[in-house]
Amino acid sequence: MQKDFDVAVFEGDGIGPEIMAPTIKILNQLTKHSDYSLTFRHLPAGAAHYARTGQSLPEESLATAAQCDAILLSAMGLPDVRYPDGTEISPQITLRKEFGLFAGVRPVRVAKGHLSPIKLPEGKVIDFVLIRESTEGLFYSQGKGKVSEDEARETLVITRKTSEALFRFAFELAAQRKARGEGVGRVTCVDKANVFRAFAFFRQIFDEVAAEFPGIKSDHAYVDATALWMVQKPWEFDVLVTENMFGDILSDLGAGLMGGLGVAPSADIGSQHAVFQPCHGSAPDIAGLGKANPTAMILSAAMMLEWLATTHENPEMLADAMRLRAAVEDVSVLGEVATPDFGGQASTADVASAIESALQ
Ligand code: ATP
Ligand code: MG
Repeated sequence: MQKDFDVAVFEGDGIGPEIMAPTIKILNQLTKHSDYSLTFRHLPAGAAHYARTGQSLPEESLATAAQCDAILLSAMGLPDVRYPDGTEISPQITLRKEFGLFAGVRPVRVAKGHLSPIKLPEGKVIDFVLIRESTEGLFYSQGKGKVSEDEARETLVITRKTSEALFRFAFELAAQRKARGEGVGRVTCVDKANVFRAFAFFRQIFDEVAAEFPGIKSDHAYVDATALWMVQKPWEFDVLVTENMFGDILSDLGAGLMGGLGVAPSADIGSQHAVFQPCHGSAPDIAGLGKANPTAMILSAAMMLEWLATTHENPEMLADAMRLRAAVEDVSVLGEVATPDFGGQASTADVASAIESALQ
């Protein structure tokens, strides 16, 4: 069994390095006595790197990342640094394309006492995972849609190959969650099958894949109704799987349920590679001030351990992932150590050391 894991690290731009450093320190502390090891390989990329060198994602960084077992990324991009055609520097999108990272995974968890705008009924917690298809859908024509004087068109693409892989991923995740006592073992396909043939196709493939997983329940919901229910009864969801554009929108709603971007982690997962990064961007407005919230980054690192543990069947690593997530949640439930985005005055370092203490 593989015991030594290489982790590619892109600390990127803005607050990126400020939230990555404590995350790695915490991972080192967490895994000090574990039966496996993590080796971090820091790789250059991003907007500042582009400004210096003319390269946003050097070939070497990409090649090294490809050889690593997982990729940890904080944030890339800066408002004033752009490619000559005016588009944003976003190597994370290149990684998604290069590595075929079709499943965008966004867990939405709200423990009691957390600063969520939702008032939870007694005994209810929010604990669901939104899976956003990330390589096709309505993002397919990205920038290449047709525009004339009188009309503009974009393309919505749903393929059988990607959809099957996406749905299998969703059902496998639901099964893992059920085994851990985290979910009821249900996957909901979120679409607009009543209006678009592409979504009727999406739903048809979903039903075919659902039949491969008799132990997991499946159902469907329209995206508009899902947005309503995410606010009215978010504790009812388990695993939601949807198209790229719908997932883009719903995942911000999910981050809103958690209280803000600073605590929302994510993963982009393919059949060989996976990138773990917070939902937020490089937050240039607060960069260098030491007050960025490291929670989303640290939770993303916990997701990385969870994914490595599952793909390599390492129970100790899975236990570490859960221990790290619990430590982060302990700190946020108490709410005593909060950065300004959560109404507190704590620094990035304060939050990190509170999490380190919670781990001991
Ligand atoms: P992107 O285009 O990369 O998604 P964005 O323009 O949407 O980026 P972010 O960089 O995510 O913006 O920042 C949006 C707002 O949220 C900013 O005011 C930023 O300061 C704040 N923010 C984002 N991440 C954090 C964080 N980890 N801690 C505190 N505030 C944050
Ligand atoms: Mg954004």
